[in-house]
Amino acid sequence: MKMLKLLIAGLALGMAGIVPQAGAQEKGPIGISMPTKSSSRWISDGDSMVKAFKAKGYKTDLQYAEDDIPNQLAQIENMITKGAKVLVIAAIDGTTLTNVLQKAADSGIKVIAYDRLIRGTKNVDYYATFDNFQVGVLQAGYIEKALNLKAGKGPFNIELFGGSADDNNAFFFYDGAMSILKPYIDKGKLVVGSKQMGMDKVATLRWDGAVAQARMDNLLSAYYSNSRIDAVLSPYDGLSIGILSSLKGVGYGTPKLPMPIVTGQDAEIPSVKSILRGEQRATVFKDTRELAKVTVAMVDAMLSGKTPTVNDTKTYNNGVKVVPSYLLKPVSVDASNWKQVLVSGSGYYTESQIK
Ligand code: BGC
Repeated sequence: MKMLKLLIAGLALGMAGIVPQAGAQEKGPIGISMPTKSSSRWISDGDSMVKAFKAKGYKTDLQYAEDDIPNQLAQIENMITKGAKVLVIAAIDGTTLTNVLQKAADSGIKVIAYDRLIRGTKNVDYYATFDNFQVGVLQAGYIEKALNLKAGKGPFNIELFGGSADDNNAFFFYDGAMSILKPYIDKGKLVVGSKQMGMDKVATLRWDGAVAQARMDNLLSAYYSNSRIDAVLSPYDGLSIGILSSLKGVGYGTPKLPMPIVTGQDAEIPSVKSILRGEQRATVFKDTRELAKVTVAMVDAMLSGKTPTVNDTKTYNNGVKVVPSYLLKPVSVDASNWKQVLVSGSGYYTESQIK
């Protein structure tokens, strides 16, 4: 009799079309905490992840913290309260999450550090990122090639910019770049006019373009009123834009005073356009869709009791442990290969977005 009742109830539900299909119920939720919408790369990261999680049947909770640390902490706490199964976090300041991640661990929530390493806690399970040292190598390698340094050319004047010192990546970018530039500086083929070297002197808090522009203004007036600057190491497109406007402000970018070689990172549209105008010279493309895919695969593996795939178990020590990582390859982009890399090769942009 009981069986019969159940059968009838089941049939009624079926007729109403509300019987859940096997495997169709939503999994998750997955909390995705991104640093800011002020840079388009993080918007792409968030959008790509939501899409990729959805395709695998996961519900997501995507939040942007507008570069405000307390805001990011509150958003993560809220994700924990709402029962997130996994947290995917691109930290604003990689050292501020210890307490909130202890709460996550106490609730059995797994954590993936997304693009930026989370430091000072054991409660981070995996790290999905790009080869950050290689990003710096590509940036400085571009300067090396453009100035023909390998052929012994020089001396040239250069200034160095670093990213935000609360972002572990900034040190990797800087160290990667210095692995190429330092030998030329030591030989006197590159001269840092200001003598400002080291992340303690060249960092740019919160990756803020206005801060870079102000520093560039100061450098130009203090050290370059009688000499020309030939190259600027910039680790991120948003800083490059500030640096370029400072340079334009004192007359660079004319046949008499050509722009120095200015690098960048993220292949953001305004900077690709700047490259095509002959202002910024290069950027580094990191396909955020691929990073999203790697991350979603990690989450899916963890939640299905499998071990996520990693390709680096040595590099990223967060002060408490080495976090198993998956590193993707960054690609250098300039006026000669932008179309192939960003449009035809990857479909990351359409040509009309750039031209
Ligand atoms: C990212 C870069 C980005 C920078 C500023 C870094 O952590 O790896 O891609 O340019 O943050 O947003």
